[in-house]
Amino acid sequence: MQQVEGSVLEVDVAVVGAGFSGLYLLKRLREAGLSVRVFDAAGDVGGTWFWNRYPGARCDVPSTDYTYSFDPELEQAWSWSEKYATQPEILEYLRFVANRYDLRRDITLGTRVEAAVWDEASERWRLRTSGGQDVVCRYYVMASGCLSVPKSPDIPGSDRFVGDSYWTSSWPHEGVDVTGKRVAVIGTGSSGIQTIPHLAAQAAQLTVFQRTPNFSLPARNGPLPAERVAKLASDRPAYREAARWSLGGVHTEPNQVFGVYASEEVRRQRFEDAWAAGELFAILDVFGDQAVNPASNEIVSEMVREKIRGIVHDPATAELLCPHDHPLGSKRCCLDTGYYDTFNQPHVRLVDLRSTPITTVTEIGIDTTAESMGFDVIVYATGFDAMTGALVSVDITGRNGVTLKEKWADGPSTYLGLTAVGFPNFFALTGPGSPSVLSNMAVSIEQHVDWVTDCLIRLRADGFQTIEPTPLAEDGWDQHVADGAAITLHQTANSWYMGANVAGKKRALYPYVAGVDQYRWACDQVAAQDYLGFRRSGPTGEHTNDGVVCQLQPDVKRVLDVVAGMQLPALETMSAPDARAFMDAMNAARPPGPEVAEIVDGVLPGPAGDLPYRLYRPAGTGPHPVVAYFHGGGWVLGSKESDEPFCRDLCARSGAVVVSVDYRHAPQDRFPAAADDAFAAVSWIADNAILLGGIPGELVVAGWSAGGNVATVACHRARDEGHPQIRGQLLLTPATDSDPNRPSYTDNGDGYVLTAPLMRWFWEHYCDEAQRQDPRAAPLHGDLAGLPPAIVITAQFDPLRDEGIAYVEALQAAGVPVQHVSARGHTHTSLTMVDVVISGAQVREEIAQRLRTLFPSTATVAAVQAAGTEPAPV
Ligand SMILES: Cc1cc2nc3c(=O)[nH]c(=O)nc-3n(C[C@H](O)[C@H](O)[C@H](O)COP(=O)(O)OP(=O)(O)OC[C@H]3O[C@@H](n4cnc5c(N)ncnc54)[C@H](O)[C@@H]3O)c2cc1C
Repeated sequence: MQQVEGSVLEVDVAVVGAGFSGLYLLKRLREAGLSVRVFDAAGDVGGTWFWNRYPGARCDVPSTDYTYSFDPELEQAWSWSEKYATQPEILEYLRFVANRYDLRRDITLGTRVEAAVWDEASERWRLRTSGGQDVVCRYYVMASGCLSVPKSPDIPGSDRFVGDSYWTSSWPHEGVDVTGKRVAVIGTGSSGIQTIPHLAAQAAQLTVFQRTPNFSLPARNGPLPAERVAKLASDRPAYREAARWSLGGVHTEPNQVFGVYASEEVRRQRFEDAWAAGELFAILDVFGDQAVNPASNEIVSEMVREKIRGIVHDPATAELLCPHDHPLGSKRCCLDTGYYDTFNQPHVRLVDLRSTPITTVTEIGIDTTAESMGFDVIVYATGFDAMTGALVSVDITGRNGVTLKEKWADGPSTYLGLTAVGFPNFFALTGPGSPSVLSNMAVSIEQHVDWVTDCLIRLRADGFQTIEPTPLAEDGWDQHVADGAAITLHQTANSWYMGANVAGKKRALYPYVAGVDQYRWACDQVAAQDYLGFRRSGPTGEHTNDGVVCQLQPDVKRVLDVVAGMQLPALETMSAPDARAFMDAMNAARPPGPEVAEIVDGVLPGPAGDLPYRLYRPAGTGPHPVVAYFHGGGWVLGSKESDEPFCRDLCARSGAVVVSVDYRHAPQDRFPAAADDAFAAVSWIADNAILLGGIPGELVVAGWSAGGNVATVACHRARDEGHPQIRGQLLLTPATDSDPNRPSYTDNGDGYVLTAPLMRWFWEHYCDEAQRQDPRAAPLHGDLAGLPPAIVITAQFDPLRDEGIAYVEALQAAGVPVQHVSARGHTHTSLTMVDVVISGAQVREEIAQRLRTLFPSTATVAAVQAAGTEPAPV
């Protein structure tokens, strides 16, 4: 029930904003039986599409997808007329929605919410509005938009201009006629790029002031694409569901084509297809790795530049329009209709603000460092204070008098991009830390509205009145958002995604980049796990369910999801030969790893016959330090080339020759065959360092998993026999004993590729129960004193994590210098997934840096590097 007492309106929920978000939220909350009042400063519903009326304004996600999906009947009742609907059509649609569901009666237009204060005593929010009406509400939702606060142009003199000034973000409703006028446009982001061709069609003279060129591709607008319409018609629910569980809110097929490894022909074909499609999601997905791999990205970027040079006749202008300072997609990509071609018209001119910045706007025009220009009209297409602008422009005061602006002074901190510690019963739709502007926002908005509504319904059902995230949950989410940001190339650009367009704004990637699907999963998990990470209270009491929802690195989680979706047979259900064949087939499909100077195959003598090896040589004139490397595979699987991507990576990063040895495998050759082979191989490699291009005496023994086991066992034996001299041991998630009772076996024994049953299968193949306490099988139980210095890498979600940590502690106790690298959010296998799990790269870089400190020839440089560029904690 809405109640008005004096000038105070009392409702269950107050909502700010009547755009896509606010309208749907109102519908759902009302249906849930909650009283709601929506406020918008605008004169009508529509949000973005009410304000941005500049000529050429359109959506740039296809209309078939940039639309509500909550009501199949609504979808039947409305049809879009074009592939990319115009602003008037989208506004008409939102008005249609408001009328269809009778939403207007709960919306107050032309009214700004100026302040909101949490009243601790009544556990309610008190809002102050520009209309003079105060509002008291239990829940307060900002549906205030990510791109709703225009950025002030920061250009001196802009108020002096006596001609007409317009902002694309608040274009006059009656339209603007610039026929025959001298027009300046400042800004070449999405709005500028959309409107410039239209203004050029009317103006006598059009001058475009560009600071940063952006990537744009032809929209190829026209009728709705037949293929999409047919897909929708054949199974609308499936189409919508696929979008909800996609990376960006529009379904795309999984793309395994890596730009750096694809042939020239494949690269060209994929690019031309994307260019012809006229869709942002196509150009952003030419290669599966272009968002994370600078080299792949550069291939696509250069192809776009070629297109620009092919369209724009004047080479100097073309070059100015070519973006060189950011990877494609790291800033908002644009869709245009005739943008580049506009610069071929004789009355259109491009001014490069990088070489000749604006010094001032004058009464009659614009002065740059090079000249004075006269104009009748100046159009500012200078963008928005994105993501946080609308949220911090309201004085929102939470617990203890702290405002949201103060809390976010050093960058936004949220739980799920929706809620914040210190701000009970407060929700920010499409807020920072959620996919929002990196996605098809229609999909993300519906997801947020549904989640918030379901949350309020559940609170009521459980007898709670307040909900607030815990500090642990919020910190965990911030870390998760930052982990995602660290993977992609977004951080390399000065974009509004990064807050870089607003002076003084904290530089960070504001949206959640790990995907709409991953994000939806996280939100669903929180709800399914009894609102994990929230503290709820009410007349029935208080309940805190503390925890962190996402701890895996986002790309590790994505790989695990893909693997789970493949429903692969468990290795331990196979025979050893079948398991080997299976692994070989899996390995054949992975990216090969970075280039190294040379790869040589050879054999070395082992105790029971020759052992094949593969040598990876780094660039540069040798000799180089040497790593004797033993592959993973539980003493049963693997070969000299089964860890090839990791070996190449280790070689390229560390500058060491890596010799990967094919030791004997169980069950044909059981314990201690592998250990004996490893020792023989290490001895031979040490004795033949010169032959291998290595520096005699500069030898580290390394291995992953079971390979780590035999590597360290070889070190034990070398110490005992006094030969060979080993500088150090590098043990990646090693097996150090066979105890399955450690917590990591329970926590991580299922669902992280290496499972507890598989590890048991490996042990059973390798050695008898009675042999498993033998230090040659379980080095943790050996005498560790006098072993070479060790680098031990453990992974958070590895069943072997705790035995790795136990080995670190035991080595330390024995006086062995140990460097422990604890890989947060990683699994037993993820660190070796070169070019697939990008978050592993920083761990491998740290490993390589530490490895170099073990070699006398590289130690000094490595130590200086380590001191200067201490890698981020992992
Ligand atoms: C030109 C342009 C094109 C776009 N094209 C696309 C596209 O193709 N695909 C896509 O996914 N996204 C696009 N977007 C993003 C777009 O903003 C969202 O898709 C969507 O419209 C946002 O809806 P919303 O309701 O969350 O916010 P908005 O539409 O921004 O509505 C927020 C409303 O809140 C009101 N408001 C804010 N603060 C207050 C306050 N303190 N008091 C009162 N009222 C307040 C504002 O007046 C505004 O009307 C585009 C954005 C722009 C600017």
